[in-house]
Amino acid sequence: MANESYWQSLYSKSEFELPAASKNHYDLIIMGGGLSGLSLAYWYEKKFSDQKVLVVEKKAIGSGASGQNAGFLTKGSFQYLHKLYKLFGLEKAFEIFRFAQQNIELITGEFDLKKTRDFQEQGSYTISSQFDSELLVIAKDHGFNFKLLDEPVFNPLGLKGKKIILDPSEKSINPLELCRSLVESLENTEILYDAIVEITEDPTFSLVTGNQTLTCNHLILGGFAPEIIFSSETWYQCKEELEFVKNEVLVTQPLKTKILGNYYDSDALGYFRQTADQRLIVGGYRQTTGGTLLEKFLNSFWTPSCMEERVEVSKEWVGQLVMSKDGLPIIKKLSKNNSIHLFTGFSGHGLGMIFHSAKELVSHL
Ligand SMILES: Cc1cc2nc3c(=O)[nH]c(=O)nc-3n(C[C@H](O)[C@H](O)[C@H](O)COP(=O)(O)OP(=O)(O)OC[C@H]3O[C@@H](n4cnc5c(N)ncnc54)[C@H](O)[C@@H]3O)c2cc1C
Repeated sequence: MANESYWQSLYSKSEFELPAASKNHYDLIIMGGGLSGLSLAYWYEKKFSDQKVLVVEKKAIGSGASGQNAGFLTKGSFQYLHKLYKLFGLEKAFEIFRFAQQNIELITGEFDLKKTRDFQEQGSYTISSQFDSELLVIAKDHGFNFKLLDEPVFNPLGLKGKKIILDPSEKSINPLELCRSLVESLENTEILYDAIVEITEDPTFSLVTGNQTLTCNHLILGGFAPEIIFSSETWYQCKEELEFVKNEVLVTQPLKTKILGNYYDSDALGYFRQTADQRLIVGGYRQTTGGTLLEKFLNSFWTPSCMEERVEVSKEWVGQLVMSKDGLPIIKKLSKNNSIHLFTGFSGHGLGMIFHSAKELVSHL
């Protein structure tokens, strides 16, 4: 597969199968079989146990960002909290962080991810040359357990001149294991692949595929699905609200050295961590990294004592982040009645936001 991620290279499409579409009418049709679509199907089935759901997917489950991300199960770094505070003020920033914290608790409560390949609970570290120390104190008062560390005593990384903030509650996962857990939990959901879907609007609406017409009570555009969003008059307005940003990731061969936890380098806008078998995962925005990701990582962080280790890249890929102007998800009604919704714009925080957001949207259907 072109641009295949490390996670995608570990599985075949058949490991994520849902039953093929068998009906002409569904209670809910979801466009997109990523974490958005699967999470929506999950909560819809929980709320309406006798109703039928169809996921329409262009390629394969987890073939988009959901199978290409770095697996940080995160509310966001301390610097992200700072960004939210500057954008929205303290109360809303903490509200968003709390929502994401609950998202992580929901995921780990609903699925036994501890048993899955690559689940880790080692906390996250935000590395920066400066921090807002006042925000650190206020965040602690609001129940967020950030700790400012004086020295990088815990790792073999060269972090001289940097300050480090630990968030012990953060986790990481193999994102396709979450997709798999979602798929395995679904009982009334079917899938239609490769359909070129044309959406016909009227008070009730239908989806015309190559050889059949499907009708449904609710339609949700879950995740990316840009052609559909942009080709129809109804969704055209959404184009103005979304931005597509390329994000690249690499995975190395397993290293001898163990690095604990997830790292955000907020000076350079990059991030890294290790898989359970000590492969290094390095990622960053394509436009801002300069040089290769690995060079950047080695030059910035690797201490001379570790340089005896040969670091070889085993997989590199580029994924697409769907971002809104203010960085928050776009979840909204696209029709006058309650029947068509857009659910997208999870940027680099999909693992930290989607599952809880899907629960909220379904609770309003
Ligand atoms: C490189 C990278 C690293 C990231 N790292 C992290 C991280 O560490 N932690 C974190 O929380 N988030 C991370 N993210 C963000 C996270 O992966 C996304 O927010 C999340 O996966 C979005 O899920 P989704 O279901 O909305 O979109 P997707 O997973 O992209 O799903 C959309 C689906 O729609 C399908 N589709 C597209 N067009 C059509 C169509 N016309 N008809 C039918 N189907 C269609 C696609 O094939 C795809 O399967 C990262 C993203 C990238 C790209």
